[in-house]
Amino acid sequence: MRFSGVYPIEEAHRAALIILGLVIGLFWITNKFFHQNNIPAMIIVILSAYGLKLFNGPIYPSILIISLFIFWILDRQIPFKKVVILSNILGIFLFPTFIYSVFKNVYAHDGVVKTSSDSLEQVSLQQKPSIIHIVLDGYGSSKVLKDLYGHDNQSFRNELTRRGFQIFPEVTAPFNQTLFTMASVTSGGYISLPDETDDPQNYRYRLGKTITNGPIHQILRSQGYNYTQTKSGYAYVDFDDAVELKPDQQWLTDLEVRLLRFRPDLIADRHNAQLKSALKAENIQNLTPPFYYYQHLLAPHPPFTISRDGTPIKTTAVYLSDGSHYIKGSKEKQTNYINGYREKALFVEQSLLKQLKSIPNDQPLIVLIHGDHGPGAHMHQESSSLSCIPERMTTFLAVYSNLETIKETFEKAQSKQFNIVNLYRYILSDISEQAFPALSNEAKYLKWSAPSQATEITPDMLNAGC
Ligand SMILES: [Zn+2]
Repeated sequence: MRFSGVYPIEEAHRAALIILGLVIGLFWITNKFFHQNNIPAMIIVILSAYGLKLFNGPIYPSILIISLFIFWILDRQIPFKKVVILSNILGIFLFPTFIYSVFKNVYAHDGVVKTSSDSLEQVSLQQKPSIIHIVLDGYGSSKVLKDLYGHDNQSFRNELTRRGFQIFPEVTAPFNQTLFTMASVTSGGYISLPDETDDPQNYRYRLGKTITNGPIHQILRSQGYNYTQTKSGYAYVDFDDAVELKPDQQWLTDLEVRLLRFRPDLIADRHNAQLKSALKAENIQNLTPPFYYYQHLLAPHPPFTISRDGTPIKTTAVYLSDGSHYIKGSKEKQTNYINGYREKALFVEQSLLKQLKSIPNDQPLIVLIHGDHGPGAHMHQESSSLSCIPERMTTFLAVYSNLETIKETFEKAQSKQFNIVNLYRYILSDISEQAFPALSNEAKYLKWSAPSQATEITPDMLNAGC
């Protein structure tokens, strides 16, 4: 269960309790000292309006806050009692709207999403190699990084190759968005798109559920795999029942830090701390085999709050908005994106190489490192034709294994255009008796606001310039 997509539901429950406590406290204090409750009544209206703003965009609350302001100004003409009555009437309408919105968006979703192609099916495994699955969110293909971001990742690739990783030269992402791509990877099939009538937000919750409970996880869990994950800061991809490795206990939750909007530096600190904690070498030591370890890094994805040497970068752009949601048509922001991306890519590459020195070598093991889509400095969230297709739709993949069969399988697959939807199809074909032939290479570009609207990406589009 997630709140607003990126926070664990427990954080929302805790924040709600704190707000309730504050409101009751305020009632108590004003009642004791002023014998009138109009101020807390108004604060409740404002808080509800703020809650609505978090869910429904700014329209409703703006109207309400403006009307409250007008009543406040008219206060000298209108007796206080009438303002209280008005607050209460507003509250009667606001509160159910808020509650409805919470229940619709947070608590009402409905199971995993199916695929439009073949997917993985329950099998019993003949071998149970441990799996380290690392997602570099938004890490593009080496060519894109070099041509568009002035970032040559040759030394990163060389070092991985030296340590026995296979680097794939041409890698396609099945979708331009994280949740659709990752749900496809964990399903071993192209995920179905929503209908026009489906609520996109609700569908995204279901994709999150698919990522953490989809076919590959049903198989691995039924075969006794031990689950560990690092905290990503993107709760969609957080498992409900896995050991979670996170930064040392902090006073405020991520959601509370987010609610304190006037302190973007706190949000940035939190993000950097989560990245650094996820990249610790000891995370991958002493796990009990067979284990499944998931490390979803929001890097080099925005926000760009960390420099190549791990020191913080001061910025107010501390949210996860990507592509046109970040750039907003500004050349300056596009330049910031490119520079910030390069710094973060350098940071995560170096830290990852350090961390990977600790991969266990005393047991059968597979290590996957891949992007879920490319970067977004030239990407429009609503339009494929306004976007640089190769930037977004090609990505990175490196695979390591000490199992000869896995090595050979990926060796063969390496020469072709590789679609990451097939990752677990190759692996399961090798470690079970069942064959899951690779699906043909497909890619779709989805509109952010209406993911039911998709553009089919052709090979020509993938090879076009920007
Ligand atoms: Zn992503």
